Amino acid sequence: MIRVAVNGFGTIGKRVAWAVSRQPDMKIVGVSKTKPDWEARLALKWGLSLYVPREAVGEFESRGIDVAGTIEDMIASSDVVVDATPSGTGARYRPLYEGLGVRAVFQGGEKREVAELSFNPLVNFREALGRRFLRVLSCNTTGMARIVHSLAMVGGLERVFAVIVRRGADLREAKKGPVEGLILESLPPPSHHAADLKELFPKLDVSTYAVVAPTTLAHLHILSAQFKSPVGVGEVLEALRRTPRVLVLDGIASTAELRELARLSGRPFGDVFEVAVWESSVRASGNVVTLAYAVHQEAVVIPDNVDAVRAVAAPAVDPAESMRLTDETLGVGLDLKLAY
Ligand code: NAD
Repeated sequence: MIRVAVNGFGTIGKRVAWAVSRQPDMKIVGVSKTKPDWEARLALKWGLSLYVPREAVGEFESRGIDVAGTIEDMIASSDVVVDATPSGTGARYRPLYEGLGVRAVFQGGEKREVAELSFNPLVNFREALGRRFLRVLSCNTTGMARIVHSLAMVGGLERVFAVIVRRGADLREAKKGPVEGLILESLPPPSHHAADLKELFPKLDVSTYAVVAPTTLAHLHILSAQFKSPVGVGEVLEALRRTPRVLVLDGIASTAELRELARLSGRPFGDVFEVAVWESSVRASGNVVTLAYAVHQEAVVIPDNVDAVRAVAAPAVDPAESMRLTDETLGVGLDLKLAY
């Protein structure tokens, strides 16, 4: 059993803790909280052991929140820590992980130097096996990487241009905006997503624009891909359908309906782990293919985090088998397909 700690119990940490708890080859040591708020109580309600900074133990206990130990205790009892602390905080924790001889999986809000490799299970699982420190790419880059991996399977992919309309805040981020207006981010382009994607596909010509939108539901990308020779819609759809964690669907027109479908289909937390491609958006003209897809930011990186834990802690694991097990235990690929 791989002993896993989750440092940071926010949007990503909660979901990673849930996902790790479902793995037959992993055991969750506990999660950390720095403030004695509702999330700390939720962790206990879920039956998770709670670890806090040494100086905060008294404050938690005075509010009747049981503490299992300090964050250092939690890390020292683990084989792998999934660091889901706010952007930049993971880098400050790295010396502690290193000092205690624990492997770590960081998130996309950290700079790429925090880890030995930026990880996407579809693209570089084998390269990641046995590394000590991995960084799962950000939600937008993870979504784009799945689509680009799929397009690359068609053959002759040369160039990618994407417009990323990204959600302004997550549901729990009550004070974050924008509440009005669309913000053109990272001017002049490209946005940082292009450099992140090129880590996975170094030979690809990539450019991205990013727009921040007042929505919490999901990101929406419109991506144009140029191939060496003409490509048909049929072969692109076939490649997309064959790609794990990509869902081709139709019959819905918005990210709102996608999330509602996920909620009403009984998905945990109403999450969409897959990149959802609108089938009728796929267009081909000569060497150029264009398509649109949604990325549920809170969920898309969760299966990849589970695979990252296996990559660092179980170097003999078969990548395809790890992804299959992760997807089966999380219900990835099930029940959302809709076509009329
Ligand atoms: P979040 O703010 O929702 O959660 C962070 C958690 O860490 C909170 O519970 C916070 O209390 C806790 N925390 C703060 N300081 C801490 C410390 N010093 N030690 C331990 N815990 C501490 O953040 P998030 O959205 O879950 O993002 C976490 C990481 O995941 C970031 O790198 C982010 O870029 C990345 N990410 C976020 C999303 C998303 O949609 N939210 C998607 C993909 C990747």
